[in-house]
Amino acid sequence: MLNTFAPPMVSAETRFSTQLQPGSKVVVIGAGAFGGWAALWLQRKGCKVTLVDAWGPGNSRCSSGDETRVIRSTYGANRLYFAMNERAYALWQEHEEQVGKKLLFNTGVLWLCHEAHTALVDDSLPFAREYGREFEYLSPSRLRERYPMLGTEGLDHAWLDPKGGYLLAREATRSVCDLFVREGGEYICAQALPDFRKEHVESLRLSNGQTLTASLFLFACGAWLGRLFPTHPGSLITCTRQEVFYFGVPARQTAKWEDLPVWIDADGRDFYYGIPANSGRGFKVGVDIRGPAFDPDCDNRLYDANVLTGVRNFLARRFPELQNAPLLESRVCPYENSPDGNFLFDRHPGYHNVYLLGGGSGHGFKHGPALGELVARALTGEGGVPVCFLSQNRRN
Ligand SMILES: Cc1cc2nc3c(=O)[nH]c(=O)nc-3n(C[C@H](O)[C@H](O)[C@H](O)COP(=O)(O)OP(=O)(O)OC[C@H]3O[C@@H](n4cnc5c(N)ncnc54)[C@H](O)[C@@H]3O)c2cc1C
Repeated sequence: MLNTFAPPMVSAETRFSTQLQPGSKVVVIGAGAFGGWAALWLQRKGCKVTLVDAWGPGNSRCSSGDETRVIRSTYGANRLYFAMNERAYALWQEHEEQVGKKLLFNTGVLWLCHEAHTALVDDSLPFAREYGREFEYLSPSRLRERYPMLGTEGLDHAWLDPKGGYLLAREATRSVCDLFVREGGEYICAQALPDFRKEHVESLRLSNGQTLTASLFLFACGAWLGRLFPTHPGSLITCTRQEVFYFGVPARQTAKWEDLPVWIDADGRDFYYGIPANSGRGFKVGVDIRGPAFDPDCDNRLYDANVLTGVRNFLARRFPELQNAPLLESRVCPYENSPDGNFLFDRHPGYHNVYLLGGGSGHGFKHGPALGELVARALTGEGGVPVCFLSQNRRN
């Protein structure tokens, strides 16, 4: 979740020769945060869009299917992602009005910094100012005063970003698909079975026996992209096992814990982050260290006892009152990692009208609306956007 990767290196203007016209037929495969929003925006640009998903938007296997996801703009010196999140934030708010549901909770984001200088946060401060807001600096003593339940051991300071918080992920993902259908789109629950042989693909078979024809096929299949397209560029996406835990807070203290902002360990010393209120499901702690390779179809989703021990040790230090809090729920979700943490949006080199969108790499959810808009602009020839996110730099 804490990617500090370099800005995109590859300008893709030349790679996006496709210009969809109003009325062009498009099939989007994958109704997660990326595919759902791309489908909605392509439809708003006048395309006739069919959205297909094997298990449904926000299903329990996909990356967008957990209860909540953090929304924050802080990306170090990476102006593009900061700006993209600002746009996404506004679009999430618009979306809430359109669907009549509260999905975004502006709790603020508390960055816990071990070092005096933390590039991930410090280098974003000028962008925040440009957007008219100041982060609040909190020394350890101010932190203890403001949040008495927070252990400050090892911390140099914290920054509180007043804009940011969390999104209801599964519910938001479903709401995007519902809105897409309400605005005239077709949604089909079926598995896409691509078996392309020619350069120009005319049709796509589905597991329900249907065959869909279209001018363009956009695969936004999250952790499945790598196995659907085992050669470049799909092979760039790898899938790792990631865990989140929900702990119960004492009944009489719910408000005390739920009033905490989202918190994030800023310099990767601990690699934990949390969503205290988490929609009533408990005090959520996420582990951002890349886990082992994961099969999103077949692997079980039970927590690993060693990972839980690490989380409890961390709680003992940072939130001592919750050290022995009961574990209410846990989730195992796939990260769909690109090599450097940048998003992937590219035309498949083997097929003129097949595009791939993915590589959310543990931080993509919040960007869904703005990314979908960029993708739709690129594919309808509006251009002027940095459409290919995959850089040459490997981060890890
Ligand atoms: C534990 C965890 C914590 C995270 N924390 C954050 C966070 O705090 N903030 C943030 O912004 N992001 C976060 N992320 C990242 C974010 O959740 C993902 O980047 C984002 O949800 C990816 O969306 P997607 O649409 O690419 O993939 P998915 O949500 O996985 O959607 C892909 C869809 O494709 C469908 N599909 C696959 N193959 C086929 C096929 N052949 N036919 C039809 N359908 C198919 C699947 O059913 C699925 O619904 C986190 C991720 C994880 C796992």
